[in-house]
Amino acid sequence: MIISVLVEISINKKEKTFDYLVPENMKNMIQIGKRVLVPFGNQKLEGFIINIKQESEYDLKPIIKVIDEEPILTDELLKLGKEISDDIVCNLIKIYQAMLPVGYKASNKTNMTIKEDKYIKLVSKDIALDFINNSKAKKQIEIIYDLLDNNMVLKNKYSSNTIKSLLNKGIIIEEKKEKYRIDNTCKIEELKILNSYQKDAYNRIKNSNKDVILLHGVTGSGKTEIYMHLIKDVIDKGKEAIVLVPEISLTSQIINRFKKHFSNKIAVFHSGLSDSEKYDEYRKIKRGEVSIVIGARSAIFVPFNNIGIIIIDEEHSTSYKQDHNPRYNAIDVAIKRGKYHNAKVVLASATPTIETYARADKKYYELVSLNKRANNACMPDVIIVDMKNEIKKGNSIFSEALINGISDRLNKHEQVILFLNKRGYSSYQMCSNCGEVIKCPNCDITLTYHKNSGLNRCHYCGYADNKKDICPKCKSNSLKSFGIGTEKIEEEIKELFKNSKVIRMDIDTTSKKGAHEKIINSFMNHEYDILVGTQMIAKGLDFPLVTLVGVINADTLLNIPDFRSNEHTYQLINQVSGRAGRSELPGQVIIQTYNPDNYSINYSKNNNYIGFYNEEMKIRKVLKYPPYYFITLIKIGGKNYEIVKEESQKIKNYIYENITHATIILGPTISNISKVNNIYYFQIIVKFRNKEKMKEILNELILLEENNNKINVSVDINPNNL
Ligand code: ADP
Ligand code: ZN
Ligand code: ZN
Repeated sequence: MIISVLVEISINKKEKTFDYLVPENMKNMIQIGKRVLVPFGNQKLEGFIINIKQESEYDLKPIIKVIDEEPILTDELLKLGKEISDDIVCNLIKIYQAMLPVGYKASNKTNMTIKEDKYIKLVSKDIALDFINNSKAKKQIEIIYDLLDNNMVLKNKYSSNTIKSLLNKGIIIEEKKEKYRIDNTCKIEELKILNSYQKDAYNRIKNSNKDVILLHGVTGSGKTEIYMHLIKDVIDKGKEAIVLVPEISLTSQIINRFKKHFSNKIAVFHSGLSDSEKYDEYRKIKRGEVSIVIGARSAIFVPFNNIGIIIIDEEHSTSYKQDHNPRYNAIDVAIKRGKYHNAKVVLASATPTIETYARADKKYYELVSLNKRANNACMPDVIIVDMKNEIKKGNSIFSEALINGISDRLNKHEQVILFLNKRGYSSYQMCSNCGEVIKCPNCDITLTYHKNSGLNRCHYCGYADNKKDICPKCKSNSLKSFGIGTEKIEEEIKELFKNSKVIRMDIDTTSKKGAHEKIINSFMNHEYDILVGTQMIAKGLDFPLVTLVGVINADTLLNIPDFRSNEHTYQLINQVSGRAGRSELPGQVIIQTYNPDNYSINYSKNNNYIGFYNEEMKIRKVLKYPPYYFITLIKIGGKNYEIVKEESQKIKNYIYENITHATIILGPTISNISKVNNIYYFQIIVKFRNKEKMKEILNELILLEENNNKINVSVDINPNNL
């Protein structure tokens, strides 16, 4: 017997496997999808069994051992991996590894442990009764009564000496039981009764004959309640449900709501868990002990065998697309898995992506809309403030309206959220004498100043250096700080409102485990009056006492050179606004901008998604952007600038010679970020209409470039950023 094994050594080859001989005594353990340990040169490597065959033309080495008792990759996942690897033009092994948590990856070096609790139990009832009747040891008798009532009791409940004597007398024995690190057990409550709009949406989702449904519901319209009702139906039929949520800042709230109704039927997966916690959660799934998984992007790959529904909350979130290799999109994967299991896929958002809404508009997806907030709360009142006028009054960071709004809320003991899409203190240092900007020596990206640490930091590669006093170019002492970040806002607010309590939430304050939850809970408990944060606080959070949301600078997203910048601005303003006035108290939103006439800001102010969609579609059509054209970004990186440039041109020519349909090729040009960690990057952007043909060309291209060691080529289909 011979097996083909996929090992991580083949990382630069799209789908290269190596053949091995199976010794007689291991034959009955061989199954496709299990991991094996194999000799490779003078190393030992783990790999996945991909194929079983009878002969090979080569002289083969035998495998060392079979690692898994059960296949780690199911049939479905094996096939799914192949499809994805073709769709997104990446290596098969990368996809398989991305499907698994650390403890299950091939080539995993960490040693995951299983946690156990020690229990005690009686050897026999007769011996126990005999002891009770003939002994005067009060403490020992107490334990025996407990065991007669409860069968098994945690060992550490009683003093170790008392237990030792009972053990020595042969009256009790010790037993170990496996314990999961996360326990979602909770007292179960009934689901809320849906209001008539929710009921209608719920029925339309259930009765739809389409595979994919877009649930377009304004913030606070009660979408989460609908998910729970849909899921209850599915698990009552013995099937399983996957719920994807965009960010960990959101998961704790949603998990708490689900726990109340589904208790320990839930497993959770997100980046806030430790490797061992993920290992435990994965075992719950493999053993069929849970029927609902709630998690971030990678949770789409959980090895459920009978999926009944997949729900993608905040479907517009860019976090569903992985922005490093393998660049899969969890929504595309969800739709494939939905087809395989004959399960509905529900994409939900108050601000769907233009592409998703266009598909619903064209009736590829079912469109279900919810236009009212669930608990009779009104949509907030939105005010746009022109910062050009404020500057004239001397207000560079906070407008008069915002200052008045904040002090009004503080007086009324209500809460405020201030949003800024930039972390750090002041964005960057620039010389007012010669115009020099302090940049990262590795990446050619402006460094961001962080006041807490006193360092200039690169947000791309992590490079850090002390703040500069003297301009490195003209040697003058004219370096000034420009731009503002969350850290600066926090400081300014504390200065302006001395008696207020302010807390900040961004990458810098949430790096510790559990930090997100702590900040959210303490703000929820009104230990703080004002929450300052980045997009981390924009989505999904539900704080009843928040009645004012301030968007400090709505232009930070508009000014990013990306064809989606208006879409992102609309989404972000709408999402942040959705944090205001979610209960009885009416909400207000103040948007500060230098572009008060911009269409995305104005449609968002009026909560007019359809208006924005129609306007944006016109622009997309003229400029040949998605959804009218597909877009692919090809990046070519290498150490030698001239060679990278030359090879990029060859790649462009190759694509040009092979295309047959309407296609636009832009570039090669130097990438926006032209140098990262001393590697130079060029890019080619391809806009095309025939997806299948382009997939063919790109897969062919990657095969050709496999052996080109002068450059590295990566393909990003439908990239998040250009
Ligand atoms: P979304 O997910 O659309 O933002 P949520 O499901 O979070 O909306 O609902 C917003 C608020 O309304 C929550 O506080 C929720 O508990 C409440 N709510 C939703 N549906 C109902 C209902 N049918 N009855 C009572 N309260 C509801
Ligand atoms: Zn200078
Ligand atoms: Zn850098």
